[in-house]
Amino acid sequence: MGTHGEGEPRGDGLTVLVGETEIAARVAELAAAVERDHPPGEPLVIVAVMKGALVFLADLVRRLAMPLRIELVNARSYRGARREATVHILDEVAALPLSGRHVLLLDCVLDSGSTLTALRREIAACGPASLRTCVLLRKAVPREPDVQPEYVGMDIPDVFVVGYGLDHANRWRHLPYVAALGQDAIPEEQER
Ligand code: 5GP
Ligand code: MG
Repeated sequence: MGTHGEGEPRGDGLTVLVGETEIAARVAELAAAVERDHPPGEPLVIVAVMKGALVFLADLVRRLAMPLRIELVNARSYRGARREATVHILDEVAALPLSGRHVLLLDCVLDSGSTLTALRREIAACGPASLRTCVLLRKAVPREPDVQPEYVGMDIPDVFVVGYGLDHANRWRHLPYVAALGQDAIPEEQER
């Protein structure tokens, strides 16, 4: 596949925004921050938002040394021209063993914040010992001020991105870097 530098157009509608090396360095720093804040010896439960967080999850967990469990939740947000999204959490969060646990909610990208707000509410209702949120990418968009993840990999502009787990119409998830998808390639009304 070859390597692509940051900002380099690929000739297929993709422009590399965050390269492999930068992602790896930030994932290592995020893992170190998560470990630093975590009570020693206690188990951590990571709740990862599918499918977008799957590559991020795989890379992050391999850098964490504490006892760890992984839970997956499938969430989908439907949105039209307006930014407000309707979030559907497709799995029963209440059924997850989160009561009294230290929980880290993980997603690849924070956009409007609707997904993480909905999930945080459901996880909080399970009575976790603690609840923190980690995203690799945070878009520069207006959002409710209380949507503030404890861990953020990097800030990116308000563009539609693919790769490193993120898709467009289920393509591009396997790309090892994060790339912006050209505006022209995105239909007006779409399901993410
Ligand atoms: P939010 O609920 O914060 O508006 O959006 C978060 C969810 O929308 C993510 O979990 C992801 O599935 C999807 N999403 C938001 N922005 C992007 C993007 O630029 N690219 C892709 N592929 N998905 C996105
Ligand atoms: Mg999607």
